[in-house]
Amino acid sequence: MNRRYVRTNSGFCLPGFLSFTKTRDLKRLNRYLIAIHQAVDFEEITAELSGCINDIFDHQFFGLAIQVKDKIMVWVEPSVFKGTIEDLIKEDFCFDGEVEIHPVHSSGRGFINERILRNSLFGKEFNGKNFKAKLYILPGRKLIGKYHEEIINDMVTGLENAVSSSIRLRSLEDAASIDALTNCYNRRELDRKLDEQFSFSRRYGKNFSLIMFDIDFFKNLNDTYGHDAGDQVLREISSRIKNIIRAEDTIFRYGGEEFVVILPETDEESAAMLANRLRREISDTPFVLNGDNVFVTSSFGVSSFMGSNNPEEILRTADKLLYKAKNSGRNRVMSNVIRLCRNAVPFS
Ligand code: GH3
Ligand code: MG
Ligand code: MG
Repeated sequence: MNRRYVRTNSGFCLPGFLSFTKTRDLKRLNRYLIAIHQAVDFEEITAELSGCINDIFDHQFFGLAIQVKDKIMVWVEPSVFKGTIEDLIKEDFCFDGEVEIHPVHSSGRGFINERILRNSLFGKEFNGKNFKAKLYILPGRKLIGKYHEEIINDMVTGLENAVSSSIRLRSLEDAASIDALTNCYNRRELDRKLDEQFSFSRRYGKNFSLIMFDIDFFKNLNDTYGHDAGDQVLREISSRIKNIIRAEDTIFRYGGEEFVVILPETDEESAAMLANRLRREISDTPFVLNGDNVFVTSSFGVSSFMGSNNPEEILRTADKLLYKAKNSGRNRVMSNVIRLCRNAVPFS
């Protein structure tokens, strides 16, 4: 019997076999697209996407990069160096800002070197109203022209909607957890984050510290320079602090002129040293208010997770030490490790 073979990029196969593979792939694709549509956040979207790409392309590597405003978030399998991914994304997006990399569950393949990645990586861009994105696949089998092109187009259409609604959801959540004046997280978010950090530290035996600080004589400043100038100081202080702390540290506006910084995996001594740096960052450079150079100081309390103290106790200790710093003359750091950290001693 004469069999007619169909030429594909991966060689020759029977037309019946190709249509069987197609039907199977389309069924799988539909199942995954429904799951992607129902996903509520980027983690769920990328988990489903990775499964889908693995089933259809038997991929060696997969990544999804999403640019929202001045930040790019990337979900990738951890089989490539972070630096390589960051360079590649920055080149691809002609971008020089913050790239945040999140690992996606790996399909278990080994490490992929940069040369192979750069030579064989397939990329497909897609954009939404509020984002720019690119899907990256390093396929384990050769792509079959139009057939795989159609599958990728369907995938990207499904992704466009899912990514769009996740971004909308995220910005609603951000609006509820971010302080509008300073752009720091708010107190509600502090409670949530502190509980989360506490559970993490307890489970994995890691320490963390907390810095609480309050601007000195802020009422006088408002009275002298006006409320708008006061607002300007609050904004500038939070941006000075954000520039110093590490990416994994978080600053919260705790109340009017009071802030909290959570420092994961930091002992109390290092936290006290950092607090002293923050103190000097505020006190050593004047704020220009209505044309005047105005020096502003703050007082600090530092406390740490000790293995048994709960989140409320950690906050209360920092608050008590802050109160002590106020009573001992202000513009200083107080911690239980180094009882009195006078202005520039011993941390200058
Ligand atoms: P201390 O050194 O003891 O902390 O003195 P203080 O004057 O800073 O403290 P007090 O609690 O007496 O005053 C806090 C002031 O902070 C009063 C309030 O008007 C001001 N404040 C609170 N929130 C804001 C804000 O959002 N903007 C401005 N401009 N001022 C604020
Ligand atoms: Mg104050
Ligand atoms: Mg206060």
